[in-house]
Amino acid sequence: MAEGSVTGSTGTGQSAAGGGPRADLHSHSTASDGTTPPADVIARAAAAGLDVIALTDHDTVAGHAEAAAALPPGLTLLPGMELSCRLSGHSVHVLAYLFDPADAELSGELAVIRDSRVSRARAMVDKLAELGAPVTWEQVTQIAAGGVVGRPHLARALAAAGVVPAPADAFTHEWIGAGGRAHVSRYALDPHRAVALVRAAGGVTVLAHPRGAGRGWQIPDEVIAGLAAAGLTGVEVSHPQQDPGQRARLAELAGRLGLVPSGGSDDHGELTGFRIGTEIAPPGSYAALVERASGARPVTGR
Ligand SMILES: [Zn+2]
Ligand SMILES: [Zn+2]
Repeated sequence: MAEGSVTGSTGTGQSAAGGGPRADLHSHSTASDGTTPPADVIARAAAAGLDVIALTDHDTVAGHAEAAAALPPGLTLLPGMELSCRLSGHSVHVLAYLFDPADAELSGELAVIRDSRVSRARAMVDKLAELGAPVTWEQVTQIAAGGVVGRPHLARALAAAGVVPAPADAFTHEWIGAGGRAHVSRYALDPHRAVALVRAAGGVTVLAHPRGAGRGWQIPDEVIAGLAAAGLTGVEVSHPQQDPGQRARLAELAGRLGLVPSGGSDDHGELTGFRIGTEIAPPGSYAALVERASGARPVTGR
């Protein structure tokens, strides 16, 4: 990560809205399964009029240096990532910010996750070949373009080969959906351990989209309370896949549990429709997260 222009405090000026900086605290680049290179994520964040953009690629900090180098004056990068966790067979995503990227235990765990992603993706390509789908490892890695290979890349390869009409159609029982014919499950962290690891590395954690993106499963209040007791810092309230009623209940729950209500667009570039800046974290949440973290600082362009 670039260390050149690190801010001394919470980073940025206040927006005209009076609610603090306009902060989108959830985005992906080509360093994981987004389609936008890190520098372009920054350009899009600037174009959207944001004061703060968090880059939260899945299980990697690989995009941070490029993103930091591309910052225009006044735009702040909140370095982060989104940890893939599993609880009772369900996928749970934990956003992590401002941890020390050199922390040995955390980076060791990330290496295990990334290795398992690769061996899992390879196993799925093998299964697809057995099923007669004309998809090769070379194609998939080409689509991933140096990023961590994941199911979205397989889905794009399947669509490119004409096996499914569009990438989204690959996530079924027919192909690579959970329990699908070519699906292989992989190593994932317990979210309580993720919270503890990030905390030990000086970072803060936010439970991502607890009521959305779970393919039918919503993280129960009791689980969120348990994670809060384990040291979780915040919960994502504003997310494209959470409706106004869910947001209101999550904000209420956050207040009750002492969690920071957060939010972001979860932009994946083309895959989600370019949407950086369409979700803004509630007022005060960015400062509250920065205040609680000690492993790294936000980076502001000069
Ligand atoms: Zn997620
Ligand atoms: Zn995400």
